[in-house]
Amino acid sequence: MSLAGIGYDSHRLAEGRRLILGGVDIPGERGLAGHSDADVLTHAVIDALLGAAGLGDIGEYFPDTDERYRDADSLELLDNVVARVRSAGLRVVNLDCTVVMERPKLGPHRQEIRERLAQVLGLEVKRVNVKATTGEGIGFVGRGEGVAALAVVSLDES
Ligand code: MG
Repeated sequence: MSLAGIGYDSHRLAEGRRLILGGVDIPGERGLAGHSDADVLTHAVIDALLGAAGLGDIGEYFPDTDERYRDADSLELLDNVVARVRSAGLRVVNLDCTVVMERPKLGPHRQEIRERLAQVLGLEVKRVNVKATTGEGIGFVGRGEGVAALAVVSLDES
């Protein structure tokens, strides 16, 4: 039995914040605003995992009103969710994801992001695919107001 889950997230770009995607700190002019570290990609991955496992969504586990999650390392939240998925008798098969961002270019960081996410998911790097596209100058991404991310995961019975 194969289970699919989808995840989507977006965060606003802001001065004086770090840009962390898939646990990797990416140098740039601006970063992402949010209650946690605002790792929009990891948040999309978490929702995809919870979706595939039928376990709800990220807000139920790590509400942005909870002070415990202020500036939280989203990879730690992901690790927590992977444990919940395993407790449900499931294992992660693969992850595919897309970051929608005007700049900076994701290419130079893509391999490191794959490795970091693969490590937390307990996957071989080849089972984690990270894609990037831009907003082509249109919409909130294109205007440089924010970054979006989409993720799809597949789970199987362990
Ligand atoms: Mg988020």
